[in-house]
Formats: sequence, structure tokens, C-alpha cells
Amino acid sequence: MATIAFIGLGNMGGPMARNLLKAGHAVQAFDLSEAACTAARDAGATIAAGPGAAAAGAEVVITMLPAGKHVREVYTGEGGVIASAKPGSLFIDSSTVDVDSARAVAAAAEAAGFAMVDAPVSGGVGGAEAGTLTFMVGGTEDAFKRAEPILAAMGKAIVHTGGPGNGQAAKICNNMILGISMIGVSEAFALAEKLGLDSQRLFDVASKSSGQCWSLTSYCPVPGPVPTSPANRDYQPGFAAALMLKDLKLAVEAGQSTGSPLPLGGEAAQIYTLFCNSGFGGKDFSGIVNMLRGQK
Ligand code: NAD
Repeated sequence: MATIAFIGLGNMGGPMARNLLKAGHAVQAFDLSEAACTAARDAGATIAAGPGAAAAGAEVVITMLPAGKHVREVYTGEGGVIASAKPGSLFIDSSTVDVDSARAVAAAAEAAGFAMVDAPVSGGVGGAEAGTLTFMVGGTEDAFKRAEPILAAMGKAIVHTGGPGNGQAAKICNNMILGISMIGVSEAFALAEKLGLDSQRLFDVASKSSGQCWSLTSYCPVPGPVPTSPANRDYQPGFAAALMLKDLKLAVEAGQSTGSPLPLGGEAAQIYTLFCNSGFGGKDFSGIVNMLRGQK
């Protein structure tokens, strides 16, 4: 069992750190929020005074932070992880951040002699609590092999997606497909309604035809056809629209920095911006169907 520094104990990081403790690891935790630290202490973690103090003496450092700027600060800032970690330790950043930040921090870690992987997740808070997250891991083969047994305590699928930054690349490309396809499926149901075509009948046809996709068959945005989808519980997330918007913005940013035209990714980001600005950022992202139907 390892001594693991865990920095960022929010909605995702809190339960992930608890699963590491349950698996028998020692956890040295830090968060700017006192409440988050208290909850981690109650679960059996030791609380450190800062990111550097958490990293000192740990064999593995895991971060679960809001965005790229927090990740840069925690690793490369004064008194940060890189300045304080013990030689040979492994860094795992599981936050969802821009690819450029992921690659810059991995390069800074490597220059200081540390191995690092970016390992963003899908599965949400439910997956973090149940220990069933999917990890998309970018880094060297050796770093991946070292990270895998640690990640196994928090997830059920661990996929090596290539070199540094490629975990983030896989995450934003997948979620861009999801955002676009959810809008497409929602537009179809809104149009069907106006044409007098029953939702269940559209589902029966499209789920067995070329319109078939995950947004339709696993996460149908209208109530009825897929009983487990958030549409049947007033669009309680699930996957909040604000998080979908964050991921779409990261995709657009990556498109700009690589010169990749993303006409539909860009449009999807605009549509989710409007939805979130109308006060629905906390609703499941499939609730976009109601905006497309013209409902308030
Ligand atoms: P959160 O806001 O609940 O938690 C982030 C935590 O980081 C907070 O407790 C905050 O106090 C802490 N923090 C911020 N700056 C810090 C610093 N400098 N030092 C120490 N702690 C600091 O967010 P979350 O929902 O746990 O998400 C974390 C990451 O996981 C994000 O990048 C998010 O996009 C990603 N993610 C979230 C979900 C989800 O369903 N919530 C799903 C997949 C991925």
C-alpha cells in the first residue's frame, strides 16, 4: 500500500480519496476548503498544511481540481508539488483541464525528474462514490503502468490513450461528440412533436435505424422511452449542463490552438452557453431539449 497525497477534495476528489483509504492506502490530503478537509479527516486522511506539505513524503500525488490554472499553480507554484515531492514520486492529475495546461505541467514535472499522467474521468459523482470511474490516461507506458493499480481503487475502466495530454484530448473529444449528439437528438424530438409524431414511436424507429446513438438509446432526452434517463426525474443530473459547457469550451479552445475547424462543436458550446445563462446550468445537459422546444 502507498502513501498518497490527495489535493482537491470536492464533489469528486472527496469520494475518490475515501476509496483510496478503503483500499488501505495512507492519504495525506489538502484542500482550500476547511469543510472538505474535515470530511477527509473524518474518513481517515491526514490533513496537510498545503500542496507541498501534502506531497512531501508521498509516493504518489493525485490532484482533482477545478481547472488548468489551479493545476498549474498546485504543481509549479512556489511551495507546490514539484518543489516539494520526494524524488521518484508519481503525479496523477485527474482534473478536467485544457490539453495545453496538461502538457505544460507534465513537461515541468518531467524536467524536474518526475513521471506524470493526466487521468481525467467520466462517471460523475456517482461513479466517484461507487469506485466505478473510467480513467482516460495520457503519459508514458511506464507512468501508465505505475498509475494503473492506484487508479484501480477508484475506477473500473482504465484506458491508456497515448502520451502526455492525450487523456484530456480523449475526454474533450468524447464529450464534444456527446454534446453535439444530444442537441441533434433533442432537435429531432422537438420537430417530431410539432409534426404530430409520438416520442415513443420516433424512439422505436430511430433506436433501430441510422439515427441510433447513446444520447438516444441510453440517455433519451424526453420522458418515457428510456426509464432511467434524467428526463424521467425532472432533469436532475446526471451530468450537469454547466460541466458539459466547460468541456465544450475546452474543445473549442483546443480547436483554436490546433487550427481545427469545429463548426458543430462551436455551435454546441453557444447553445449550452444560452441554456446555462438562462439558469439551467445545474440541470442535466439533456434538459437542452426543453430550450429547443421553446419551453421556459
Ligand atoms: P469541486 O469544485 O467540487 O472540487 C474542487 C475542489 O478543489 C474544491 O474543494 C476546491 O476547494 C479545491 N481547490 C481549488 N483550488 C485549490 C488549490 N489551489 N489547492 C487545493 N484545493 C483547491 O469540483 P469537482 O466536481 O470535484 O470536479 C473536479 C474536477 O473533476 C473538475 O476538473 C471537473 O471538471 C472534473 N469532473 C467533474 C465531474 C462531476 O460530475 N462533478 C465529472 C467528471 C469530471
